Amino acid sequence: MKTVETVTGPISVDRLGKTLIHEHFIFGYPGFQGDVTLGAYKEDEVLEAAIGVARLMQSYGVQTVVDPTPNECGRNPQLLQKISEATGLQIICATGYYYEGEGAPPYFKFRQGLGTAEEEIYQMFKTEITEGIAGTGIKPGIIKLASSKNEITEYEKMFFRAAARVQKETGIVILTHTQEGTMGPEQVSMLIEHGADPNKIIIGHMCGNTNPEYHKKVLDQGVRIGFDRFGIQVLVGAPLDHQRVTTLLSLLEQGYEDQILLAHDTVNVWLGRPPVMNEQVMKIMENWNPVHIFDHILPSLRESGITEKQIDKLLGGNAVSLFAGASVKV
Ligand SMILES: [Zn+2]
Repeated sequence: MKTVETVTGPISVDRLGKTLIHEHFIFGYPGFQGDVTLGAYKEDEVLEAAIGVARLMQSYGVQTVVDPTPNECGRNPQLLQKISEATGLQIICATGYYYEGEGAPPYFKFRQGLGTAEEEIYQMFKTEITEGIAGTGIKPGIIKLASSKNEITEYEKMFFRAAARVQKETGIVILTHTQEGTMGPEQVSMLIEHGADPNKIIIGHMCGNTNPEYHKKVLDQGVRIGFDRFGIQVLVGAPLDHQRVTTLLSLLEQGYEDQILLAHDTVNVWLGRPPVMNEQVMKIMENWNPVHIFDHILPSLRESGITEKQIDKLLGGNAVSLFAGASVKV
């Protein structure tokens, strides 16, 4: 029986059910810890808000959420465990660091200068995966990797190489962040070159790119991809949802229905101050919530002739095969 680690322990992959592959219950850009002007972090309020979000998703039939919050961006496996225990929603958390521009690189960059960082990143991944995170006993179900726009920096490459090595030893799934959909093909090539299993890789945020030919350079290497930013429009270089839908339909038409998973990349509770948006931006981002796909995207897919069987794959079946490491036909 193939299993995957959730924040409440391992489950059979067959039990994943309807899955959102990329949502953040809580997230903070590194540095939020220093902005203490708002007073102490109120965990009770955060937990209550996050439980509300979990219940909303469940009301649409969602059974599993992958929360790929990187270690340095406010990852809190115990909070996720409390959300899961309160609601029954299955939550998979991550081990990993964010991309150089928006993560917290000084620590491992300093150690990179000392010549020890890559081995230490390997040890960090391996320890969290085999023993649990910081004494909690909670184990990540994925490694989260991230690269910059149009570049995988030397700093980021350490994480990619270490992840490939750990995956060979543990079989864990690798989930990535591409900045505006760039460097997808290069992420896959690099991971495979270092021995990672393409059947256990999902390249994230690929919907930032609207050219199906570009997507095929990733898909034809035998990995899965995330159309996982529905609702994020214009902001951070994102396309419009209707452009995402057009790209998705083109890929489905070309037979890639076993390799794509959907999500919104929502941040449901911001650590530190929440973002400030002007009226125009608020309008264009109004659908950025963790059930937008069910409310607005699925109806338009159905109208275009996408079947219920295909939708089930995009929101669950393909997660089962990803976590089972089932091979993709290319
Ligand atoms: Zn994300």
